[in-house]
Amino acid sequence: MPELPEVETIKRGLEKNIIGKQIADFYCDWPKMINYSLKEYKAKIKGLKIQAINRRAKMLILNLSQSWNILIHLKMTGQLVYGSKTKCLVGGHPIKDGYDCLPNKFTHATFTFSDQSHLYFNDVRKFGWLRLFTDQGLEQELDSLNLGPEPLTNDFSFDYFKNKLKQKQNSKIKQFLMEPKNIVGIGNIYSDEVCFYAKVKPTRLVKNLKPKEIELLYKGIKKILQDSIKLQGTTFSNYRNAEGETGEFMKKLKVYGRAGEKCKICNAEIKKIKIGGRTASFCPKCQK
Ligand SMILES: [Zn+2]
Repeated sequence: MPELPEVETIKRGLEKNIIGKQIADFYCDWPKMINYSLKEYKAKIKGLKIQAINRRAKMLILNLSQSWNILIHLKMTGQLVYGSKTKCLVGGHPIKDGYDCLPNKFTHATFTFSDQSHLYFNDVRKFGWLRLFTDQGLEQELDSLNLGPEPLTNDFSFDYFKNKLKQKQNSKIKQFLMEPKNIVGIGNIYSDEVCFYAKVKPTRLVKNLKPKEIELLYKGIKKILQDSIKLQGTTFSNYRNAEGETGEFMKKLKVYGRAGEKCKICNAEIKKIKIGGRTASFCPKCQK
């Protein structure tokens, strides 16, 4: 699943391409992806313009004219592709082939803009969605999700982090980092990398963390997410960011996806362990 840096990268890429475009048509062949009937959904958004694109946690928000908004979640295998006569930008989960002949068999929703360019939503497993809300409806929807602060804003302060940890003393630190009610946007990749940065084993209980480790975890969250955005998201095999380029952060990963390989710092073998159905990778020598 794309995490905060990947979704932020898609947001920035789309921003350069679809702001100001007018929706001329919409099609969706998978009713569970949308929260109205296709007929109603289409009638509501036809003629509206894309005014801004925002991100909350791992979701994208298309702000439309007349106070409508589309909340998009890519889930495990969703992919957004912007296509015009001269370019094709891909963001999200990789899908082999088919970039040059869209729509393809994984395309389940298509926005057609008045200039005849398109935004395609492709999804192999069809868990992703595009839900339409008024401004007020969107606010209610986001409130109901009870999301924690955005890690790269001032809302995510060191005091907030310390207090939240105090409330979750018996959590394993990796699980704490991945819980959106605590902090949003961090999944399997970045929780592993943050633990490595702080030299803390992903299975450590929050109550046993030392003050210095808590400081490093806090610093690591900000630094690693920022570095990854700078390098345009993490590359997954043929992962493409919204500008159609591969991300560079994959080469910088210290532990995620490296079990069996050597630690870049101490040469010990990177190990993996199951935590609540997820796999954590860590260096047994560098991380205590
Ligand atoms: Zn090591």
